[in-house]
Amino acid sequence: MIRVGVAGAGGRMGSTTCSAISAADDLELAGRADPLLGVELAAILPDCDVLVDFTRPDAVVENARNALAAGVHVVIGTTGFDLGELEGLAGANIFAAPNFAIGAVLMMNFAAEAAKFMRAAEIIELHHDGKLDAPSGTAKRTAELMAAASGRPAPPIHSVRLPGLVAHQEVILGDLGQTLTIRHDSADRESFMPGLLLAIRAVGSLRRSPVVGLEHLLFET
Ligand code: NAP
Repeated sequence: MIRVGVAGAGGRMGSTTCSAISAADDLELAGRADPLLGVELAAILPDCDVLVDFTRPDAVVENARNALAAGVHVVIGTTGFDLGELEGLAGANIFAAPNFAIGAVLMMNFAAEAAKFMRAAEIIELHHDGKLDAPSGTAKRTAELMAAASGRPAPPIHSVRLPGLVAHQEVILGDLGQTLTIRHDSADRESFMPGLLLAIRAVGSLRRSPVVGLEHLLFET
């Protein structure tokens, strides 16, 4: 049994995460921290092997530091902060992913591959109106991967925030007389759960830390 605590357990992602952990045979929901629930992170850390963080950009690094100081591995889904702040943190392992949906990871891979062959691209990311950061972590990561693959500057990103949306992204590539559109839609937060559970099970045995991106657990990278 891996004992898992959730920071941000009262939020949209945190509550879906708690249900997914409770439903998994090999995971135990060891604690739920959130100001909304009146439970501090420090109160749950002694009972955890792994902490999952779905909080806010201004809380996530401090939460990770506290977990590592307690010897607890950290899986970070929160976006909108500088991932460089995780470098050098020690005590246990950190795994972070801007998007835990397997389809979104495939979209990023396909977009990077296509960027090698087509002359220009733009990214449109669309999310619910409660999202705090823009552009999304997924869009920024896609742009970085496309720049690295093509050797050109990162493509521009356009952000849309509207009620009724969950998490969506379109990468449009253009060249002489043609365009190619690669689109991923998360219609429900359940879409993030298989990738997240994979990360929870893997974080304790990472050979380096921090590791950023679900692709490192899905493919040989
Ligand atoms: P949300 O509904 O606002 O939930 C965040 C929760 O965290 C809130 O209840 C918040 O309480 C709480 N919180 C704030 N500071 C905290 C702290 N120090 N310790 C514990 N809990 C704390 O947000 P969400 O929609 O679930 O999104 C959370 C994050 O996940 C965002 O950064 C989002 O971009 C990201 N996300 C990632 C993925 C992925 O696949 N990686 C997918 C979807 C979303 P207050 O309201 O009182 O601040």
